[in-house]
Amino acid sequence: MACFKNPAWMDHESIHYFHDPQSGLQAIIAIHSTALGPAGGGCRRWHYRSEEEATTDVLRLSRGMTYKNAMAGLPMGGGKAVILATDKQPPADELFRAFGRCVDSLGGRYITAEDVGVSVDNMRQVKQETTFAAGLPGTDGRAGGDPSPWTADGVFLGIQAAVRHRLNDAALDSLRIAVQGVGKVGYDLCRQLRDAGASLVICDVNEDHLKRAQTELGAQVVAPEQILFQDVDVLAPCALGATLDGQSIPHIKAVIIAGAANNQLATEQDGQRLWDRNILYAPDYVINGGGIISAALEYMGDKTAADTIAQIALIPGRLSDIFTAADRQQKPTNVIADLMAEEIVANATAGPLSAG
Ligand code: NAD
Repeated sequence: MACFKNPAWMDHESIHYFHDPQSGLQAIIAIHSTALGPAGGGCRRWHYRSEEEATTDVLRLSRGMTYKNAMAGLPMGGGKAVILATDKQPPADELFRAFGRCVDSLGGRYITAEDVGVSVDNMRQVKQETTFAAGLPGTDGRAGGDPSPWTADGVFLGIQAAVRHRLNDAALDSLRIAVQGVGKVGYDLCRQLRDAGASLVICDVNEDHLKRAQTELGAQVVAPEQILFQDVDVLAPCALGATLDGQSIPHIKAVIIAGAANNQLATEQDGQRLWDRNILYAPDYVINGGGIISAALEYMGDKTAADTIAQIALIPGRLSDIFTAADRQQKPTNVIADLMAEEIVANATAGPLSAG
């Protein structure tokens, strides 16, 4: 499908297709907006069924980053990268150094970090070729490192805010919580939920990830196709996006949906579907902003881990504002969040965000 005709194109500034003949790297970088500053967003490595699927994914994700960065109060626009994984992938070092050169060629309009399928080690390889990367371990109390634990921290605080709003109680110890996907963020979230006394139901398609969470956290395991429909208080999607749609929503029993996955709603109308069923939805790009907050503060160069913690602590308040406005205006929470983010972007005067 042509780019401009792709429904996910929306109002993107640019999209860049890269091929490195030596490493075989195929990557796409989408820049949705630089109104608030350089486009910040992670790099995902994934087996896509087609280039069209990869294009749609990167476009949807990069637009989400504009909204996420705006709602996180960051001086950053929205962008995202995908690397098309293949069965005959070259050594990671070659692949990610080639990707680093692609990022560098954009001259700082896009700043990358980890996402699904990309590790801290990979980001070290990227960083050998460009300064426009974050997500490397911070030293001496500086901001930075793998964004995933920071994302999990924000999601945990966000779940507490959602529980306070919907169930009038901040305590999680009497709650049953289903977590879809126990990878980097999902596992860390589960650990915090377990420590807060919640009982956990989990699933994953990766046997190793599943075993680790099952044995270390004592979580109940269900099949991936059953997780959305568990008899739980909270559902936390922490795998991939577009799981909430016209097929799944009518059968969801949870009264709160609050998780890390990007683009959880298959379409905007699915937010209305959740609203109509009185299911409180924590907009994904607000609740999962912890990782990009860490990456952005690391990139700024003069920020500390304490600054990251302080910024992540603002996530529950932002969610409460959205929940309250949704009740007042009788509109779904995703619509309210979009309106808030669009207002921030519309009022923006982009300032340079220089690397430290
Ligand atoms: P990850 O790859 O470490 O974990 C994802 C897990 O989901 C994996 O264990 C995978 O096997 C599992 N999974 C995939 N498909 C599944 C399915 N159909 N059913 C059940 N499990 C399935 O990725 P992550 O970094 O933990 O990110 C999880 C989600 O959160 C992604 O949507 C990501 O875009 C989003 N997110 C991550 C961050 C971050 O800091 N890592 C930040 C914001 C948003």
